[in-house]
Amino acid sequence: MRLILLGPPGAGKGTLAGRLTDCLSVPHLSSGDILRAQVRQGSDLGPALQKYMESGQLVPDDLIVKVMISRVTQPDCAAGFILDGFPRTLPQAQALNDQLTEVQAPIDMVIYLDAGEQVIISRLAGRRVCPLCDANYHIETMPPATSGKCDRDGTDLQARPDDAPQVIRTRLQEYSRLTEPLLEYYGTAGRFARLDGNKDIEEVFGQAQEVLTKTFGCVDEL
Ligand code: ADP
Ligand code: ADP
Repeated sequence: MRLILLGPPGAGKGTLAGRLTDCLSVPHLSSGDILRAQVRQGSDLGPALQKYMESGQLVPDDLIVKVMISRVTQPDCAAGFILDGFPRTLPQAQALNDQLTEVQAPIDMVIYLDAGEQVIISRLAGRRVCPLCDANYHIETMPPATSGKCDRDGTDLQARPDDAPQVIRTRLQEYSRLTEPLLEYYGTAGRFARLDGNKDIEEVFGQAQEVLTKTFGCVDEL
């Protein structure tokens, strides 16, 4: 099962991917998590990546394409993957398509998680993440068991620097300018489903299960 999750920042792509990875038994590949890990590990490209990310701009296509193509060709992706945050531009989608066509392993489905601007802003404003394991929380809709601490490892949770209001504005502009054209690219290409990402987490997961079951049969058997 090779799945792409599309949608604006804060729509809930990472949260849904976290649920689907368990029931589909394929890895969740978050381009944002992969880039943040490179920054944390002090890679040569780290300072440049950090500058783009903290300003809310997309990192250059050639760079992210290299990183993500090398990730989807790892052995743990042989049975499939869930892409969250990649591709985000037409050249990225074309590069991914070229690679997958070459290995005869096309994308099976694109799920578009739609959400309104007010929902997005309150989701990002309340998002808290664990700097150690990347676990994702929300102060109201998905709070940790102990306020401010990661359920998995007890680390102090943080707001992401790019979830600051002025950076959110830039990210939303980048989304409409560069990522929204992908809706047409994938919408006319085949298996494509739009989910209402404004709904609560259980409902969004239910919608995803429904479209996957309708398209591929029982999700648990995939
Ligand atoms: P969100 O889904 O909340 O917008 P991500 O964690 O996916 O955030 O991405 C954070 C940042 O990482 C983006 O604003 C951008 O700078 C960079 N990034 C992630 N994925 C890509 C991509 N496919 N292309 C370019 N930049 C990306
Ligand atoms: P994205 O990966 O699209 O940027 P996330 O999955 O990180 O979005 O979700 C953004 C924030 O909203 C997180 O704090 C998450 O806990 C919360 N969240 C995600 N999905 C929902 C939902 N359906 N209802 C309410 N809160 C949600």
